[in-house]
Amino acid sequence: MASNESLFRPRMLINGELVESSDKKTFSVYNPATRELSAEVPEATEEDTNNAVAAAKAALPTWDALGPAKRAPFLKKLAALLREHKDELARLDAISMGMPVSSHFFAASAASHFDYASEAWPTVQGQASVHTPGHVTFTLRQPYGVVALIIPWNVPVHFLGGKAAPALITGNTVVLKSSEKAPLAVARIAELVKEAGFPPGVFNILHGHGVPSGQILSRHMDVRALSFTGSSRTGKLIQQEAAKTNLKKVILELGGKSPAIIFADANIKKAVAQTQFSIKFNSGQVCMANTRIYVEKSVAAEFVEAFKQAYIAGTKEGNPLDKETTQGPQADEIQYKHVMGYIEDGKKTGTLALGGEGNLADKKGFWVQPTIFLDTPEDAKIMKEEVFGPVVNINTFETEAEAIAKANDTEFGLYAAVFTRDISRAMRVAKALESGYVGINTTSPNTGHDLPFGGYKGSGQGREGLLQSMDNFLETKSVILQVDEE
Ligand code: NAD
Repeated sequence: MASNESLFRPRMLINGELVESSDKKTFSVYNPATRELSAEVPEATEEDTNNAVAAAKAALPTWDALGPAKRAPFLKKLAALLREHKDELARLDAISMGMPVSSHFFAASAASHFDYASEAWPTVQGQASVHTPGHVTFTLRQPYGVVALIIPWNVPVHFLGGKAAPALITGNTVVLKSSEKAPLAVARIAELVKEAGFPPGVFNILHGHGVPSGQILSRHMDVRALSFTGSSRTGKLIQQEAAKTNLKKVILELGGKSPAIIFADANIKKAVAQTQFSIKFNSGQVCMANTRIYVEKSVAAEFVEAFKQAYIAGTKEGNPLDKETTQGPQADEIQYKHVMGYIEDGKKTGTLALGGEGNLADKKGFWVQPTIFLDTPEDAKIMKEEVFGPVVNINTFETEAEAIAKANDTEFGLYAAVFTRDISRAMRVAKALESGYVGINTTSPNTGHDLPFGGYKGSGQGREGLLQSMDNFLETKSVILQVDEE
């Protein structure tokens, strides 16, 4: 957005009102493609955060008592508004974190979560039995109460839908905090929530940095469950705050260092096409991107050559607002420097086969060249830590056992892939991989619509998904009723 155009005015939604922050302080969000100011965004204060939680707490009894059938129309209406405003939401993400509008289909995915929740609520059931003589026993599923949702910047609209829809339909009230790097589309959704007519306090939306608002939500005694998607570092901090305060339920969807294993008998063309897309999509800013590729030695040269060509051929750098663009800039200067730091480090440990430069010299924005490193030692920093950019390490292996050992030699475990035509080997490897998700002859971001999503090891705890997420926001109460015998 040119600086002389009128800027979108993001506000927070607290107790049904669109508001500035209580101390009127804002933080600036810049377009990462042009470095021009995109918007001034209210930074939630301690008072704002506490007010949002108090509003959610006050709204809880009535929202809970309404029952799911009467809660559902609010979610349906919001789904329709998200679809109606999809282009605007894509544009706001483009000018805050640089995702090309050509790959922004997330208003639709968020809407599908609200639609699904508004219709699938009858599937939420408890259990009942007469296995205890003289008694009837049953369970009740009830909302936690006030739940906090903290989302990252890389796919904000999608995470808003995936978390808020199941939390709301099950009778909880919500305080959602956007990421400081991508608050604009979420701020527009705050307006749509108001337009959808949710009762005041049911769905509150805050903006701001992790500290203070995110930290306050993690510590808050009135927040009974917290669903977080973001880095493993922040996930641990949230878990610590929860443990030190009210032991709120914490669901964590964290980082990744996902491996893809390519055996010599695989369809190499398909493996190349999929693995290069995985690391390129959203400029590599995807938790499950396959950042470590292990190729069987006998086909490594062929694979690497084809990968290089596909990686460049399918990439059109440009302004994310341009419909032709497939590669936008990194989200901001911090992310750009973070990625470039890993690339410089990678040059010291591996063999640079492609890219390796930032494009700041000839472009205004924060583009990083698609980069490939070969033959990097397994214990190098770039093999162990999350880069979150268009940077991939390709290494080789000679045996199945070696490939599995290398793939599992990480503290992360979000998504792993194996490419082979041997079905038994595919199943052996899928079983052995320490990962919450496994693709066979496919890789991320390919996922099934109804499968649970979440990490092994340091990639998180708990699972989210259409069939799982409502369960995340429901307590289970066991009831035993004694029956008087005549
Ligand atoms: P981040 O951890 O820096 O921030 C995520 C959110 O947490 C933001 O809203 C931020 O303001 C907030 N936050 C920061 N410090 C906090 C604190 N002390 N207390 C409470 N909240 C705090 O992560 P990011 O850079 O926004 O997102 C990228 C990360 O997210 C990557 O590690 C990526 O792998 C991960 N991610 C995971 C998944 C998944 O499903 N597993 C999906 C997308 C992204």
